[in-house]
Amino acid sequence: AKNESLSDPHYFDYYLVDKLLERVQIEKKLPRALAENEFELFYQPKIDLATHALTGLEALIRWNDPEHGRISPASFIPIAEDSGFIVELGEWVLWEACRTNKGWQDTGYPKLPVSVNVSAVQFRHPQFVRTVETVLEQTGLEPQYLELEVTESLLNDPVLIKDRLDSLKRRGISLSIDDFGTGYSSIYYLKELPLQVLKIDRTFVQNTPTSPRDNSLLQSIIQLGKSLGLTVLAEGVETKEQFDFLRQNDCDQIQGYYYSRPVDSATMGEMLRISMI
Ligand code: C2E
Ligand code: CA
Ligand code: CA
Ligand code: CA
Repeated sequence: AKNESLSDPHYFDYYLVDKLLERVQIEKKLPRALAENEFELFYQPKIDLATHALTGLEALIRWNDPEHGRISPASFIPIAEDSGFIVELGEWVLWEACRTNKGWQDTGYPKLPVSVNVSAVQFRHPQFVRTVETVLEQTGLEPQYLELEVTESLLNDPVLIKDRLDSLKRRGISLSIDDFGTGYSSIYYLKELPLQVLKIDRTFVQNTPTSPRDNSLLQSIIQLGKSLGLTVLAEGVETKEQFDFLRQNDCDQIQGYYYSRPVDSATMGEMLRISMI
């Protein structure tokens, strides 16, 4: 087994010590990677279930490491969060997403909101709102074309959060609750906070429509979101059966491989252009 794992590109994952070493190495490499322009944003379309129209795009970061190739955010975002580097990296994501979206709009492509994932650490940073304002001002992107995705873990700090969400909302920026159902958000906070979109985590979608239990759970979450007056989006939709089930059950939007995987900005631009025909 040892020999086999040596030829496996994910060899390091098999050994805890190597994992720790890898962690330290990644942490050290992140700032240089940013300076060397090794990060890139991919975009995944959001689709309206009733009309099949494109309703927005989510920006998803990728790391093109010269040594290891393309590295998934799932492996470096948690490290960047722990080290605090996420503040700087997240700021780059904001700039890049807003600049790119403005570029598409200036080309004459349909105007759509771009969503940016914001880590709790980044959101809690005292300068966060100011940074968002600066990015919008300097890129010229109108605030209604920026959406921020935050996870439920953030809602545990309701006082600070409400303040900050309110001031973002006042500026016309839309706010989504990401990975809904995997954290511990209180329904009370969901009701009180100025949120617009509830994104149902893909774990609630993956076994539908074959599992009756998962079907009714998914239906309940959709209804909860609707009762709270939110737009409900289902993540990780991979099949036509899931798509149809969600449409029949009043879900508003989807994202997932069924429609499109995340694509690079050139491909996304092409998709936007084609969507006008
Ligand atoms: P997320 O925000 O929940 O993003 C959705 C993830 O699901 C993406 O993984 C996307 O590629 C994947 N996905 C989309 N459709 C499907 C599908 O039909 N099936 C399956 N199995 N997966 C699908 P990705 O791009 O690897 O990102 C992983 C996570 O990394 C994101 O989860 C988000 O939490 C984080 N992340 C990505 N970009 C950023 C960023 O710029 N900033 C921060 N703070 N976090 C980011
Ligand atoms: Ca997200
Ligand atoms: Ca998500
Ligand atoms: Ca997720």
